Amino acid sequence: MDSVQAPSAIVPTYARANVAFDRGEGCWLVSTAGERYLDFGAGIAVTSVGHAHPHMVETLIRQGSKLWHVSNLYQTPEGERFARRLADATFADLVFFTNSGAEANEAAIKMARRRQWIDGHPERYRVLTFEGAFHGRTLATIAAGGQKKYLEGFGPKVEGFDQIPAGDLEAVEAAVGPETAAIMIEPIQGEGGVRVIAPAFLRGLRALCDRRGLLLIFDEVQTGVGRTGRFFAYEHSGVQPDILTSAKGLGGGFPMSACLATADAARGLTAGVHGTTFGGNALAMAIGNATLDIVLAPGFLDRVAGLGLLLRQRLAELKDRHPGIVDEVRGEGLMVGLKLHVPPGDFAAAALAQKLLVIPAGDNVVRIIPPLVVNEEEIAEGVRRLGAACAALERRPAVAVE
Ligand SMILES: *Cc1c(COP(=O)(O)O)cnc(C)c1O
Repeated sequence: MDSVQAPSAIVPTYARANVAFDRGEGCWLVSTAGERYLDFGAGIAVTSVGHAHPHMVETLIRQGSKLWHVSNLYQTPEGERFARRLADATFADLVFFTNSGAEANEAAIKMARRRQWIDGHPERYRVLTFEGAFHGRTLATIAAGGQKKYLEGFGPKVEGFDQIPAGDLEAVEAAVGPETAAIMIEPIQGEGGVRVIAPAFLRGLRALCDRRGLLLIFDEVQTGVGRTGRFFAYEHSGVQPDILTSAKGLGGGFPMSACLATADAARGLTAGVHGTTFGGNALAMAIGNATLDIVLAPGFLDRVAGLGLLLRQRLAELKDRHPGIVDEVRGEGLMVGLKLHVPPGDFAAAALAQKLLVIPAGDNVVRIIPPLVVNEEEIAEGVRRLGAACAALERRPAVAVE
């Protein structure tokens, strides 16, 4: 494996593995030492169409040699087209473009509060969120996520977020008060450990929001753009949100995000009340359109759904072969979690030793989230490497489990 030489000048907030990558193609990465790795992490569900997809590269070069950025003071036809396509493919009427998942969630929260305000309910500003949630690392989104490890040492928690257990409709009902503006939830918790929220619970939230005049926000930063075998995960439940955020897979690796909404939910965001310098620039918008060219092509999402089924079948067999390591297989489409009997960090390290990238998550889960362009042979190869990682973990001296 490669080693990074000089002391790093980067703030040490990340525990990085000792490997660097030089290039990629599809589901494969080549390290700076020239070794090939199978990428079943997709840069945390970001490289949705794989590395160096020819259409993405062609778009980057074409748009990059023409125009990158003019600001939101002027028209951006690529952005108009991208927004129209997102709206046409979803529940949404309108789109606000941002640059990261957290920023899209900030837009969603502001949009919901402002809608309540413009309707004469300035007292309604609180947002209900769920235990195990992850909504980003800005000051407001760490308050929304509610996790102590992300809040600690950063001063007073931003006011206005109430957290309750997922799955308990009565607890949600009881937590809604005169100050509640919105409910925000990931249809499948990603960082929380690929925890699929029951469709019946989402339906219950929808009904509750309708009854109490609240806005329903789906954080699909991780689940969106085909990851679960549908364009957005809400389609599995049939429950439509008022506001939805998308980021990770949206630009295939180019940083961009979007906050989608019904016209009614977005009513409060009038000229001048919200903005971003970078959001929706010409380069990002061209690349976003290129992602949609691929993901919304006929048959693409059905293929993802089919491969997801295959992957989960193979992983169920893996669990049967290694019951001391794998406890449970869960997820939807190509967003799969293995609940483990060993620490997920150890498992990811064992997989890395087999030249396979996977991503640890909460709840003792490791995420298997390959690029959506993965094929059957790569799934078989990835599962073979996961088996080798399990075998290596079984051979090591016993450690405390969970
Ligand atoms: C990754 C993630 C975020 C945060 O996205 P950033 O781009 O890191 O700000 C928010 N919500 C969910 C569900 C995520 O998975």
